[in-house]
Amino acid sequence: MARYTDASCRLCRREGLKLYLKGERCYTDKCAIARRQYAPGQHGQRRIKLSEYGIQLREKQKAKRIYGVLERQFEKYFEMAERKRGITGDNLLQILETRLDNAVYRMGFASSRKEGRQLVLHGHFTVNGQKVNIPSYLISEGDVIAIKEESKKSEKFKEVLEITSGRIAPQWLDVDTENLSGKVVSLPTREDIDIPIEDHLIVELYSK
Ligand code: SF4
Repeated sequence: MARYTDASCRLCRREGLKLYLKGERCYTDKCAIARRQYAPGQHGQRRIKLSEYGIQLREKQKAKRIYGVLERQFEKYFEMAERKRGITGDNLLQILETRLDNAVYRMGFASSRKEGRQLVLHGHFTVNGQKVNIPSYLISEGDVIAIKEESKKSEKFKEVLEITSGRIAPQWLDVDTENLSGKVVSLPTREDIDIPIEDHLIVELYSK
């Protein structure tokens, strides 16, 4: 399965903001962007004025990197967003947000989306009682996502839950911290999605 293999912190430095790709480390002073706030590479410290196209492209790259999605899948999501009723940019973010790897991260069952992806791939979660090991699986309103019984007591989840304790899940997810499960009470609206993406720029890019 294709995935990003670049060093995560380089991606944040390229975008000039924290993308929270590394879990716990992102919240410490070891965060690379806190120490080197310029793009990676030999010319990283040069100020480059971006064209309109460049700005739109960067916004798309940022969204792809935050959610850990590659180009082809991102294009697929954009086509889905266009076909749905409503505002394409809002639809796009809603689709990205309802990926299972993102949902488990949002519920505090993974310290980063990347870890969410790994844990889903390793079969640690169920959706409505059925094991689902596809990170891109799109959840729906009313779905119940849970950590599998056998996985609940594992050292890995003890560690993850310690890191994420105190994290507040978004309103569209109702998390049961006792049973380590969460229900999708509604699909996320644009207001529920706190990521710094100007989605209209992505729509403009694809509309060219
Ligand atoms: Fe980005 Fe996290 Fe690395 Fe900081 S520590 S640069 S937020 S991936």
